[in-house]
Amino acid sequence: MVTEQLYRIQERIAEACSRAGRSPSEVTLIAVSKTKPIPMLSEAYEAGARDFGENKVQEILKKQPQLPEDIRWHMIGHLQTNKVRQIVGKACLIHSVDSVKLAEEIDKESARQGIVTPILLEVNVAEEESKFGFRLEETEAAIDEMSSLSHILVRGLMTIAPFVEDPEENRQFFRKLHQFYVDMQSKKADNVSMSVLSMGMTGDFEVAVEEGATMVRVGTGIFGARE
Ligand SMILES: *Cc1c(COP(=O)(O)O)cnc(C)c1O
Repeated sequence: MVTEQLYRIQERIAEACSRAGRSPSEVTLIAVSKTKPIPMLSEAYEAGARDFGENKVQEILKKQPQLPEDIRWHMIGHLQTNKVRQIVGKACLIHSVDSVKLAEEIDKESARQGIVTPILLEVNVAEEESKFGFRLEETEAAIDEMSSLSHILVRGLMTIAPFVEDPEENRQFFRKLHQFYVDMQSKKADNVSMSVLSMGMTGDFEVAVEEGATMVRVGTGIFGARE
């Protein structure tokens, strides 16, 4: 089941790339495995998945030792500062940095471990009350503040678009964030290397790919509905 669904999502990414004149090699599929049991992750791994996304620190810490070491674990959920110590060094990329204070904590812990942690800034493009993330207008200032932190590397931006019936409704937000991403690429700041745009989930990843996503985070489409 998981294998077929993973292949089908990969095909749909390739089709979206071809519509947009992009190469599928530009888009990384993150298999969002939150709440799912190890055997399902193993099946996805056997089918070729190497990037897995989880939204809880505890779940990454629990699953990581039970699965092959070449899996890249992406932290995609809201991160509290008191969990930073546990996740730094374990996740390949933290997608959900939503405050300068959190970036400072990640920097501090990374310095302690003698590593540099790649992060993305979460942007609440649609300005939904219920969502975490910087507002688009405050993101550039946040990037500037973070450029003095030498143990993080700002690799790009992430957004969670609104939950909608018709994914076309989210195209405007993906387009807006992509435009900002391109603007930030031309601006050279220390500790900033804009090359990741993480946007698109099961309901809207094709539109996100058409609008320039370099990472899509797909859970339900691969593993089925969550409890
Ligand atoms: C759960 C989750 C996803 C995946 O959602 P699906 O709709 O199941 O594909 C993607 N991104 C984040 C941040 C999530 O929490």
